[in-house]
Amino acid sequence: MSKKVRVRFAPSPTGGLHLGGVRTVLYNYLFARRHGGDFVLRIEDTDQSRYVPGAEEYIYETLSWCGLEPDESPRKGGAFGPYRQSERKELYRAYAERLVSEGKAYYAFDTPEELDAMRTRLRTDSNPTPQYDRHVRGQMRNSLNLPEAEVRALLDGGTPHVVRIQMPEGETLTFTDMIRGAVSFDTATVDDKVLLKADGMPTYHLAVVVDDHLMKITHAFRGEEWLPSAPVHILLWRWLFGEDAMPQWAHLPLILGPSGKLSKRDGAKYGFPVFAATWNDPKSGEQTEGFRERGFLPEAFVNLLALLGWNDGTEQELFSLDELVQRFQMEKVHKGGAQFNFEKAQWFNHEWIKRSPAQRLLPDVKALFAGKGIATEDGKLATVIDLVKERCTVLPDFATQAGFFFTAPAEWDTAAFAAKWTPEKRAFFEHYADRISTATDATSFESLFKQCAEAAGIKPGELQLPLRIMLVGGKFGPPVFAIAEVLGAEETIERIRKVLPTLG
Ligand code: GLU
Repeated sequence: MSKKVRVRFAPSPTGGLHLGGVRTVLYNYLFARRHGGDFVLRIEDTDQSRYVPGAEEYIYETLSWCGLEPDESPRKGGAFGPYRQSERKELYRAYAERLVSEGKAYYAFDTPEELDAMRTRLRTDSNPTPQYDRHVRGQMRNSLNLPEAEVRALLDGGTPHVVRIQMPEGETLTFTDMIRGAVSFDTATVDDKVLLKADGMPTYHLAVVVDDHLMKITHAFRGEEWLPSAPVHILLWRWLFGEDAMPQWAHLPLILGPSGKLSKRDGAKYGFPVFAATWNDPKSGEQTEGFRERGFLPEAFVNLLALLGWNDGTEQELFSLDELVQRFQMEKVHKGGAQFNFEKAQWFNHEWIKRSPAQRLLPDVKALFAGKGIATEDGKLATVIDLVKERCTVLPDFATQAGFFFTAPAEWDTAAFAAKWTPEKRAFFEHYADRISTATDATSFESLFKQCAEAAGIKPGELQLPLRIMLVGGKFGPPVFAIAEVLGAEETIERIRKVLPTLG
């Protein structure tokens, strides 16, 4: 029997989640659901200097907004906890020590000053950032070079030290990436990465391998920026748990912005969101806008993310989360970078707003109006949503497209018809306002309109724009008699009568 699929999203809580981060969540989620597996959220907070308050709560909130709830997490618990690496601190040292005792890692006592001195000493034009590697380790203060007794004394004396991996020379390490196929590395190009830091915390490299093992992770999906770390992880797997036990990896393609790799700065520069939800950085006070706050529906956001680097081989672009679960295949994820296009993102949202039933949109639109101090009645709001949703790309568009249903316009674009306004037209509107007091639906408003126009000898087409502007304020909105129906006779009459005196 094959092992139960278990995947994990393993963010470091250092700030908001950008498109790439949420896409990693999504692909994990889809893979887990498709294979009846578990989706784990693990918080990788071992770098205490990068800890940002609020970032973990932001992750829960964002995943929940997207509808991508993990099965196990620090908040939810589960059989493989704790799920926050800082709470697992004690667990990692033994693995590091084991590697030291087996000659695969070593203690390094170099102070920050000594490391700086090494970099300054070895820096050349062709080697601007010298690494602690096989060329250098022999010149440094570590357990490979110091006499054993001195090492013991340093350790017993509590001298700050790290544990470094001793990268073997001249080996080629290969693994099969689910997207890229066979990928090989020459160990000579990799430095002696720190595994355990002076504060006793593991680095990402050690923690990710130990935790993927202990949490029985079967597949690990992460951004392609982690590919260069793969040789370190392969060796750790080989030495600690056996390479056969290694999860299957997939390194997801970069997301590209208008000028190379999509960055947070692109958002500010080009005026589109790059984060899922708005993030307020407590340290810098900087605010980065999110898709949620811009008025995207999570259904649309998830859909557009899925298509950033994947499609099912057909022309289909609109997928619900359930459909994605049915169709998603990691092997179909593209190797090359995925181009993000905000116009296209808006297209997805527009499509999702159009295809969403009014009841789905109602809470969001209601909250939007409430935020503007406008109370709305659900029945009327649902009707209004269906009337205007085709004209809305993002949720705030409902305020501009439908505000007049709830608040009578205070200004009218009368200039749009002023040149063709006549005393006969005024008489028509006075007559029409007198006649419609019992009209209740679009059809009756319309047939009375035609009757009155005929009586006045004016083409109805010439009168529709003035009516629209009287009811709406401007040249926009759904069919004008549908508007009158929603407003009701009393309000329609009042709006007509309010404008007439302002017209010459
Ligand atoms: N903590 C890493 C990050 O912040 C996780 C990488 C991985 O999934 O292995 O991206």
